[in-house]
Amino acid sequence: MDKAIGRLRRLPEITCVFPKTLGEALSLLKKHKGAARPFAGGTDLLTKMKRREVVPKLLVDLKRVRDLSYIKYDKKSGLRIGAATTLAEILESRIARKHCPILVEAVSQMASPQIRNTGTIGGNLCNAVPSADTAPPLIAAGAHLKLVGLNRKARTVSAEDFFKGPNKTVLGPIELLSEIQIPPASSHSSGTYLKHTLRREMDLAIVGVATHLTVDSKKDACKDVRIVLGAVAPVPMRAKNAEGALRGKIISDELIEKAAEIASKESKPIDDIRGSAEYRKEMVRVLTKRTLKKCVGT
Ligand SMILES: Cc1cc2nc3c(=O)[nH]c(=O)nc-3n(C[C@H](O)[C@H](O)[C@H](O)COP(=O)(O)OP(=O)(O)OC[C@H]3O[C@@H](n4cnc5c(N)ncnc54)[C@H](O)[C@@H]3O)c2cc1C
Repeated sequence: MDKAIGRLRRLPEITCVFPKTLGEALSLLKKHKGAARPFAGGTDLLTKMKRREVVPKLLVDLKRVRDLSYIKYDKKSGLRIGAATTLAEILESRIARKHCPILVEAVSQMASPQIRNTGTIGGNLCNAVPSADTAPPLIAAGAHLKLVGLNRKARTVSAEDFFKGPNKTVLGPIELLSEIQIPPASSHSSGTYLKHTLRREMDLAIVGVATHLTVDSKKDACKDVRIVLGAVAPVPMRAKNAEGALRGKIISDELIEKAAEIASKESKPIDDIRGSAEYRKEMVRVLTKRTLKKCVGT
């Protein structure tokens, strides 16, 4: 075994190509199947290459592809974000802040200005680490992802079904994530994302919790809720038992405590360098409770 694996080394020699359209990018991935890799900001990929975890021969740069970097909103489709949009562009976008504040809240807790200027939302999702910060808020907001293959053949999957395991997604070898689609929020709904890290910035989540709550204004009851946990399972997971405990009920402090306890029980964390499973379960309880309280404004 190569003892240098795991340590950061100089980048190997590599060719980078700069397609102008999605079709061109996909043709290049087809032509160099197995040897080529999509490349957006490189903030995840270059580190993996330096560790020799992946050694592509060709990088297909997506940053110059037309129509892959935008933030748009219309009443029918909701918010649409191009996959190559940088985290900084999302953070600065008034449209994103207005129509998906939970995503902007998550991005504001990510990395440093330098990394946010380069890293993209598409890269964060496609890299598919369990602690990816944009995943829980997007799943909580009911987002869908548009995937495009050869001949512009497109399909849409829910953000929830996109992840298959650590570093694994439903993307085929010649397929790219092109757009993140977030439906218009229903009235009387609110969402929030809280992340627990050891350091305030530049740290991956030990636990992240995104909660999106819709209340029935007349009854003061929970009409719908999505609680999504990050970094406590191989993929971002919905705390469905906790959601079930809340749905249709009048929201009280006791009910919030109960739902947070259930979310903690259904999380499936592991022990690792950033925290023990036991500690993570406790943090799921604490953060779920805090997100629910924040959503109801108490
Ligand atoms: C110092 C530092 C701090 C960080 N802090 C955080 C943090 O707080 N939270 C967090 O979640 N992450 C963090 N990250 C990780 C990283 O910055 C983000 O995941 C970033 O969003 C990745 O985007 P990128 O454009 O750089 O992806 P890249 O590195 O370019 O790509 C990542 C992967 O996605 C694939 N890919 C990229 N775009 C597409 C596409 N459109 N279609 C198909 N495949 C695609 C690439 O082939 C690659 O496998 C940090 C990284 C560093 C170096």
